[in-house]
Amino acid sequence: MTDYDLIVIGAGAVGENVADYARKRDLSVAIVEAELVGGECSYWACMPSKALLRSGHALAAAKRLDGAKQAVTGTLDAAHVLARRNSFTSDWKDDSQVSWLESAGIDLIRGHARITGPKTIDVDGETHTARAAVAVVTGSLHTLPPVPGLADAKPWGTREGTSAQQVPESLLVIGGGVSGSELATAWASLGAKVTLVARHGLLGGMEPFAGELVADSLGELGVDVRTGVNPVRVDRDEHGLVTTELDDGTTVITSEVLAATGRAAHTRDLGLETVGLTAGDWLDVDDTMLVHGTDWLYAVGDVNHRVLLTHQGKYQARAAGEAIAARYQGTPLHTEPWGAHVATADHAAAPQVTFTDPEVASVGLTEAKAREQGMNVRAVEYDLGAIAGSSLQADGYTGRAKMVVDEDRRVVVGVTFVGQDVAEMLHGATVAVVGEVPIDRLWHAVPAYPTMNEVWLRLLETYGRPA
Ligand SMILES: Cc1cc2nc3c(=O)[nH]c(=O)nc-3n(C[C@H](O)[C@H](O)[C@H](O)COP(=O)(O)OP(=O)(O)OC[C@H]3O[C@@H](n4cnc5c(N)ncnc54)[C@H](O)[C@@H]3O)c2cc1C
Repeated sequence: MTDYDLIVIGAGAVGENVADYARKRDLSVAIVEAELVGGECSYWACMPSKALLRSGHALAAAKRLDGAKQAVTGTLDAAHVLARRNSFTSDWKDDSQVSWLESAGIDLIRGHARITGPKTIDVDGETHTARAAVAVVTGSLHTLPPVPGLADAKPWGTREGTSAQQVPESLLVIGGGVSGSELATAWASLGAKVTLVARHGLLGGMEPFAGELVADSLGELGVDVRTGVNPVRVDRDEHGLVTTELDDGTTVITSEVLAATGRAAHTRDLGLETVGLTAGDWLDVDDTMLVHGTDWLYAVGDVNHRVLLTHQGKYQARAAGEAIAARYQGTPLHTEPWGAHVATADHAAAPQVTFTDPEVASVGLTEAKAREQGMNVRAVEYDLGAIAGSSLQADGYTGRAKMVVDEDRRVVVGVTFVGQDVAEMLHGATVAVVGEVPIDRLWHAVPAYPTMNEVWLRLLETYGRPA
């Protein structure tokens, strides 16, 4: 039996940050990991998926530039793209992340952790107790939609979709969300014949033009995008081919089928029931990530279901790690909105980039979401292709921008950019939303000429000069 001030269960990117921030405040910290230190993002999500996409984006960008396109004589070299992706996952080895834990003074316990009571856990038969807190940072799990035959057809999940070592001849992607759209883009650019089926349009929950522009360009990439359809039966035959029947009466035959339709809380085998919680549930937390009804259990990252993104989980981790230390050491706790120990931005200013081509970069609320929350908003849009910087960036640049303004407070509450290379434009929008910069002051934030950020000026002109 060993004691620590803090025990973190799960050494994904978020767990590492909870541990690090508490350790920097002099708490003794252990982190428990059942698989690889670094978690989903490093090995089966963010990093490998973006590595799969990046070469295709670079090639497409070159083909959109006169002078450069004449130099592009071939297609992507899939073997090199896959090898580059492998290097970004360190070939699914976690040595460097383990070294980092050591250098940060955090003890690593390998194995599967189960909570056995307040501040007590078991890891493969050994008991460990925490003096201050236990943080559950176990992430989320891929789920399969309940389609007859799908589970037996050896479907790809997002893990296989990001780690496959060969390009399938053909691939059916079920799901038009962020992961489905990104992985359809990646495998199509690598030469697979991809069909994507989605119950509704693509990228639900974002501004509607985002999904429409991405669907158009997936079509140009050769992806057969079918919206408003559902798979009703899936079978893999003795030759390995997968036949999927759709509810519009058509069938699709592919080498592989990838389900990208949802995530579940990774809490089924965690001993939650020993402390009055329900196995399999997402963990409900306050803004310091303390689980409601407890004074010692924290839940950070995907597992609390606030925002399922690495950077937002790491943001929560910074607040939680320091809140755990402050409560334990009796130092001041700043829990007012935007205080040091709360993750206020989760509610209203979480940025997200969808790395399709065009990219979708958004922060804050969509117009629909803001109205749903009862805000008095006015939204303005602008053709991103009409900006001088965009026309230099790519010949025939296609894109769109939208700004949602809270009319009562006269501040920007949401921004969406869709287009090539908009990912790097997002942080300016995040600063404006988080800073609640008055719209009249934004006129004084002058975008450099000729950059794509001049779209800010056009959005302001469309909104109107201050009286
Ligand atoms: C295909 C895909 C692409 C994505 N791309 C992006 C992106 O580009 N940008 C972005 O911000 N987000 C992206 N995400 C989301 C991102 O991967 C997650 O938000 C992030 O991984 C969550 O981090 P986490 O630390 O909360 O959980 P995880 O990374 O899942 O880590 C949890 C860790 O806990 C361990 N664990 C679980 N239970 C136990 C237990 N009982 N005992 C011991 N260890 C345990 C697991 O083994 C795991 O290592 C993507 C997701 C997917 C699926």
